[in-house]
Amino acid sequence: MKKDDCIFCKIANGEIPSETIYEDNMFRTIMDLGPASKGHALILPKQHYRDLCDLDKETAEKVFPLAAKLGNAMKKSLGCPGINVVQNNGKEAGQTVFHFHVHLIPRYEEGPEMVSWAPEKADPEELKLTGAAIRNAL
Ligand code: AMP
Ligand code: ZN
Repeated sequence: MKKDDCIFCKIANGEIPSETIYEDNMFRTIMDLGPASKGHALILPKQHYRDLCDLDKETAEKVFPLAAKLGNAMKKSLGCPGINVVQNNGKEAGQTVFHFHVHLIPRYEEGPEMVSWAPEKADPEELKLTGAAIRNAL
C-alpha cells in the first residue's frame, strides 16, 4: 500500500523526482539530500511500511541483498573502504521519515566517527532477565 501524505512513497514511486541510483519493481535507491558523507544513499521500498517492525517478509528478505549489491558498487565507484548500514525505527531511535528506509553511508579513511555509543558494563543478572524477556516474546 502507498500512503497519500508520505514523501518517501512519492519519491519511491517517481511522483517526486530524485537522484536515483537503483530501481526495480520493489525498491528505489536515491541519494540522500542531507548526506552524512559523499555517496550517502537511501533504499526505499515502493510500498509503505512505517519501520522494520512493520515490514513484510518479501521486502525484508530482499533488502539486505540489495544493500550488499549497492555497497559493492559504492566501494568500486567511490573507493570507500567502509560502509555503515543504518536503519532507524521510531523517533526515539532518530527516525524522522516514517517510511522504512535503509541508509548506506560510505566511510572514508579521513572522516568523523558517526555511528558510536559509549558501552556500559553489562550486569549478568540483568542480561539474563532481559534476554529471557525478549526470548519469551518471540
Ligand atoms: P531518518 O532520520 O533515518 O528517518 O532519515 C531520513 C533521511 O532522509 C535523512 O538522512 C534526510 O537527509 C533524508 N531525506 C529527507 N527528505 C529527503 C528527500 N526529499 N530526498 C532525499 N533524502 C531525504
Ligand atoms: Zn510511505
